[in-house]
Amino acid sequence: MINKVFTNDPIRLYKTKVEQEAMKAAISAVEKELGKDYPIVINGEEIMNDAKIKSIYPCQKDMVVGYVSKANKEQVIKAIEIANEKFDMWKNEAQEKRSGILMKAAQIMKDRRYELNAWLSLEVGKNYVEGDAGIAEGIDFLEFYAREGLRYAENQPVTKWPGEQNIYKYIPLGVCAVIPPWNFAFAITLGMTAAAIVTGNTVVLKPASDAPVIAYKIYEIFKDAGLPDGVLNFIPGSGSEVGDTIVDHHLTRFICFTGSREIGTRIYERAAKVNKGQKWLKRVVAEMGGKDYIIVDNNAILEDAANDIVKSTFGFQGQKCSACSRAIIHSDVYDELNELIVEKTKKIKMIDIREFDSDIHYYNMGAVINEAAQKKIMDYIEIGKKEGTLILGGNKGPENGFYIEPTIIKDINPGDRIEQEEIFGPVLAIIKADSFDHAIEIANDTDYGLTGAVHSSCRTHLEKAKKELMTGNLYLNRPCTAAFVGVHPFGGFNMSGTDSKAGSGDYLALFLQGKLMSEKVY
Ligand code: NAP
Repeated sequence: MINKVFTNDPIRLYKTKVEQEAMKAAISAVEKELGKDYPIVINGEEIMNDAKIKSIYPCQKDMVVGYVSKANKEQVIKAIEIANEKFDMWKNEAQEKRSGILMKAAQIMKDRRYELNAWLSLEVGKNYVEGDAGIAEGIDFLEFYAREGLRYAENQPVTKWPGEQNIYKYIPLGVCAVIPPWNFAFAITLGMTAAAIVTGNTVVLKPASDAPVIAYKIYEIFKDAGLPDGVLNFIPGSGSEVGDTIVDHHLTRFICFTGSREIGTRIYERAAKVNKGQKWLKRVVAEMGGKDYIIVDNNAILEDAANDIVKSTFGFQGQKCSACSRAIIHSDVYDELNELIVEKTKKIKMIDIREFDSDIHYYNMGAVINEAAQKKIMDYIEIGKKEGTLILGGNKGPENGFYIEPTIIKDINPGDRIEQEEIFGPVLAIIKADSFDHAIEIANDTDYGLTGAVHSSCRTHLEKAKKELMTGNLYLNRPCTAAFVGVHPFGGFNMSGTDSKAGSGDYLALFLQGKLMSEKVY
């Protein structure tokens, strides 16, 4: 019996000796497991292929986290066919059982929390606190969607009609292609997969190629929690090689994607085509990039604004879809706030995430995910140096990893490239606004609409911001990152995606279709 009340799992801040020692022990234990081979999994069968994805630790390029078998095209098709076959069984399974498996998986994750954090932190270069926040979010998704699954399984309310018994209920869709990003390799992969499974759909999961080992751990946990074979099929492989096959296949019923605008729009377009043998219009949930901002008004508490800008910009090296990449500052406080932001950012160290420092751990940055990302970010820094004035950073860090210094470029103009395009790295563009209205205009003037924050002590301005900012997740007098499941439903407008609002009461509806059954009563 699942207790109806959902509560968020608290994040560990690693301030106590007990937590620090436990994490160090977990890292040491995981280090002994590095470099192993991982299979693809179809219908419960674990298959090792010769072609492998090499997953490395971004802070130490020569450290291999694991070698994960790459599925070939035939195996991808097989996985989709199996998922389609298993759908008949899984859709008829009792909701209590499906929700119960999620709760059991959540408990396994709680029991393995430090170890999972160690795998995640090593595979993507998160510091311990950021890593733990990801594990906690994953647990929250499971416990939240388990309860939501029970709610959606009930008959839904309809208006009474004389002489008829009307039943309206939700049923699952079919085979779901889950395509997650690497940056929230645990929480987002898990959230999308769990939502599909709990609602009675079957899944082919193609993990991100930069984080396939932690995705395999997710598969393993579902299996240990009792998920039947074939409900979740694990098919790693490069998106450019197998992505189209998954998206185009006539048995793929819907696609649940989180990643870049470029790939999201490609999937959206391809999914619109009705292929031979296909009986439905494919549904696409596509959550994409952002060009997020923090507006600072001339009456804001500058110390708080600076802290929130630094935290939101440089947390996890700026590699969050919600990361602040634009500080839009009222001209009256522009110079003063710039100084504060620089002073605080100077405290950030580039670290191997295993070098734990409990005083300033939250800001300490690992390396960015890979060489291509490092190059792309450095290219944007060069563009930014021409568009504005570099006031901090701008260089690569230690050569052993893909490091980039926390970088700040001021005097950027609305419309400049680093003001418009997603960089996805530790780079802050600072833009001067003539007035609060001008700041709103600048904030709204991109193709994206994911997160944003406003710092102001003027109630009229805060209310105006609520009305006028076209931002899926708008925060007032707080950072623009850190959304908690159930508390801050998450998803963006415009080119940030379909606004699916992960972690909300609406989310599971995207994995279901409504069926009405109307019977004449004699
Ligand atoms: P990405 O390059 O778009 O990749 C996302 C996923 O798509 C990966 O699994 C990737 O596989 C796969 N893929 C690549 N090409 C494909 C194709 N042709 N067909 C099907 N799938 C394909 O994004 P990323 O670098 O992993 O993640 C960063 C992006 O995600 C940023 O833009 C960020 O803002 C966004 N994001 C958005 C949210 C949100 O909620 N809105 C949350 C997190 C991240 P490979 O890894 O094998 O290439």
